[in-house]
Amino acid sequence: MAGLKVLFATSEAAPLIKTGGLGDVSGALPAALRAIGVDVRVLLPGYRQVIAQLAQHKVVATFDTLSGFPSARLLSAVTANDVPLLILDCPSLYQREGGPYQDAKGQDWPDNPQRFGLLSKIAAVLGSSASPLDWHPDLVHCNDWQTGLTPAYLRFAQGAVPSVFTIHNMAFQGNYAPAILRELRLPPSCFGIDGVEFYGHMSFLKAGLFYADHITTVSPNYAKEIQQAELGFGMQGLLTKRSGDLNGILNGIDTDEWNPATDKHLVKKFSVARMAGKAADKEYLQCRLGLDIVPDVPLLGVISRFTHQKGLDLLLEVAPQLIGLPAQLAMLGSGEAQMQQAARNLSQRYPGKVGVNIGFSEALAHQIEAGADIFIMPSRFEPCGLNQLYSQCYGTPPVVHATGGLVDSVVDCTAETLKDGSASGFVFKGMSAENLFATIQRSVDLYHDQRKWKALRRNCMTKDFSWKASAEAYRAVYLKVLGR
Ligand code: ADP
Repeated sequence: MAGLKVLFATSEAAPLIKTGGLGDVSGALPAALRAIGVDVRVLLPGYRQVIAQLAQHKVVATFDTLSGFPSARLLSAVTANDVPLLILDCPSLYQREGGPYQDAKGQDWPDNPQRFGLLSKIAAVLGSSASPLDWHPDLVHCNDWQTGLTPAYLRFAQGAVPSVFTIHNMAFQGNYAPAILRELRLPPSCFGIDGVEFYGHMSFLKAGLFYADHITTVSPNYAKEIQQAELGFGMQGLLTKRSGDLNGILNGIDTDEWNPATDKHLVKKFSVARMAGKAADKEYLQCRLGLDIVPDVPLLGVISRFTHQKGLDLLLEVAPQLIGLPAQLAMLGSGEAQMQQAARNLSQRYPGKVGVNIGFSEALAHQIEAGADIFIMPSRFEPCGLNQLYSQCYGTPPVVHATGGLVDSVVDCTAETLKDGSASGFVFKGMSAENLFATIQRSVDLYHDQRKWKALRRNCMTKDFSWKASAEAYRAVYLKVLGR
């Protein structure tokens, strides 16, 4: 719609900087919104990696007198897919070796409250009459705890626009000592149950959930789950109270980045009409990870943060049984030291059968999606999940636990769903090693029935996971909040 202007504030955006799904969404959704006429600009911290990738930029504002914060500048630039960027340049907070949230050893940066306090503050300044820019948004769209204080700052600012807050993962909350509130110049009055207080801490996430005009999350099923004690992470009461202002919108996928017919990371491209390339991609992946090249043994792929959330402990537990099916396992990821070690041990114990790469590799992630036969994603909870969407596009049916967005995006394969063309993977209920193993076994059995397997792959690859419908749903939320 002509005239709708949105500031999209985020702590990561692919391909400039990404640690997970938030990065993927922030890289793709703004472009999809622009394609339907919403004037979106993305506000992103000027991390070392981001500044290094900016070909051209211009200083468009400086902030030297923000009480409580170091001096900062705003740089304007444009992404490769033509989305205008506002980069928040504050070298003392953002320009350092390491990741956006943690140092190289995996420790959270101790000044994260200041780093994301500044990001939240600047987003609010740009959404108020104090903005130094000529471009004034109608609304600020905040994402996860890192921009959770924006709705709070907006509440206390002059000439403030409304805000929408999107939950990408309730498990990350940004909870800090109450003294941070004063340091970040929020009024003491907001430290209460009707405000930013959360079990004696000041919570960035709670601030977003309490003060935003509307809340979204990244799948309809997760929107329901977070109103229950099991997955509400202590915020279920507030979310239930706000259920009239809360809805779930399933993430799409960036089809420029994730499309087996054009993917630059693949040795052979393929599509639903020409599947031959997938076998070459499997062979390449097997070589790359030191796996045996054997016919008719399904290759199971995993790309994941190695955390309790992702249920990799169960997968590691059943891995020896999986090898016996027989099946091969290709794993990429990093996270908890114990799980990393367990994965390494497996690959040493089963050379040629288990290939493990500990680290973060965009190229290998694409190669696993393409080269694997079956994708494994036994998450305990999953707000949306992207890998199960990618794997369907790449003809790699996923095995998933029935939770969050996995329920909204994978249809369990049964005789009936295979017949009606809706089946797109294998879903198990009840988070246990037995259930995971039984469901992987079910997928491997179907793999050996080539006629049915081809039908399942075809279903997966013809599903539409593009961002268009989701972008329309976000636009509808913006219009509702603005009363248009
Ligand atoms: P989450 O955001 O909880 O980590 P999602 O499935 O929503 O999970 O998104 C994960 C994104 O991060 C996907 O794009 C996935 O391919 C990517 N990813 C996760 N781990 C790695 C890794 N080790 N190397 C490359 N990409 C990874």
